Amino acid sequence: MPLTNLQMRDVETLVHPYTNQATIRETGPLVIERAKGIYVYDVDGKAYIEGMAGLWCTSLGYGNEELAETAYEQMKKLSFTHLFGGKSHDPAIELAEKLKEVAPVPISKVFFVCSGSEANDSQVKMVWYMNNALGRPKKKKIISRIKAYHGVTVAAASLTGLPVNHTDFDLPIANILHASCPHFYRFGQDGETEDEFSTRCARELEELIIKEGPDTVAAFIAEPVMGAGGVLVPPKGYFEKIMAVCDAHDIYMIADEVICGFGRLGEWFGSPVLGYKPHAISIAKALTSAYMPVGAVMIPEIMHEALVSESKKIGTFGHGFTYSGHPVGAAVALKTLEIYQRDKIIQGAAAKAPQFQGHLKALGDHPLVGEARGVGLVGALELVADKTSRKAFDAKAGIGAKAAKFAEDEGVILRSVGDALAFCPPLIITPDEVDDLFARAARALDKTHAFAR
Ligand code: PLP
Repeated sequence: MPLTNLQMRDVETLVHPYTNQATIRETGPLVIERAKGIYVYDVDGKAYIEGMAGLWCTSLGYGNEELAETAYEQMKKLSFTHLFGGKSHDPAIELAEKLKEVAPVPISKVFFVCSGSEANDSQVKMVWYMNNALGRPKKKKIISRIKAYHGVTVAAASLTGLPVNHTDFDLPIANILHASCPHFYRFGQDGETEDEFSTRCARELEELIIKEGPDTVAAFIAEPVMGAGGVLVPPKGYFEKIMAVCDAHDIYMIADEVICGFGRLGEWFGSPVLGYKPHAISIAKALTSAYMPVGAVMIPEIMHEALVSESKKIGTFGHGFTYSGHPVGAAVALKTLEIYQRDKIIQGAAAKAPQFQGHLKALGDHPLVGEARGVGLVGALELVADKTSRKAFDAKAGIGAKAAKFAEDEGVILRSVGDALAFCPPLIITPDEVDDLFARAARALDKTHAFAR
């Protein structure tokens, strides 16, 4: 099909993130014009269920009047002020108080940023800063995991454990290491139980720490459920064993709750669902249901003490973004959290999880699906060439992308992560809409199966 005028203007002007810059010039983009509830509409008026909540973020769906009015009112009252050098404002103070109240572990202070990448970059810098303050300048290495996703800025992309984020970007930077990926379906060995696999992951982590030297390893970072790596749910007991290793070597633990935070797994935060007790937490995305770009780093008292002592020594804490704690973003985040509580959005997500996971598991019987996995209102189907041997498709065949395209034809937006097809709808999805989402996905799978044969 020839490109429309809008598509032509697009490809002549935009660099699209995470897009094959060559093929988009031929296919053109899908141009979305408006949205309401869980639906987005393209320029031709076709409706799609946003089965990925945008990029795992629009938990309250689209067109929420309360959030729009909150932004408008805050813009009229105080469109901008900042938190640098002793300034402050009420929305940021109130939001920090609220976040401390709902946090799953003791949090001393909150540092605001505008994205998940900025949150994780800030975590890295703070860990280095803290260990300088604590007089252990060698303890600087940070361990992430293969297939982790922590963002794309220089340090965050280094933490990310996916080849496309490193290749030819000259990453990862020094002092970032990657431990084993806890995906039993792919990395479990013949005859190994899930529990034995968890034990092996923890043992391999410990071996890495010992090889590097425990006095050089500062921190460990993990998403409770790995999102962009393919919705990888660790086996039961995994975090308990990992935490024991980190505790034994005095390693600061960070949870990247950028996807899991705010109800995605059926509780306020994903860490308790998976038995993870971190020291610090990164948040973004559903903090504002993506109505404004807001993220945060939530830190424990030991980190705060380090920031205080370094400030005494250096004269300031030399880190911060123009929009750290932007008043409009903070006001919208506060309203989002109020809606989560008032409308019992998180309990609602938990209540719909069995239906959602039931549909997902049922699709696990499809001849194309090797593994159906998920928790709460997030999941993925791993598409395989052979169910019995778990043989993957040739990556060049792009079967995951093809399935996502067939889903789009069926009026549902899903995301292919390699050959895993991810599902992450707005938390406000109704039970009838959940049924509809999976009916469309099933038709897309049948078409993919027919295509792949
Ligand atoms: N951390 C996790 C777990 C994410 O899923 C993402 C984005 O998908 C990020 C960090 C990066 O967030 P951003 O794209 O807002 O920089």
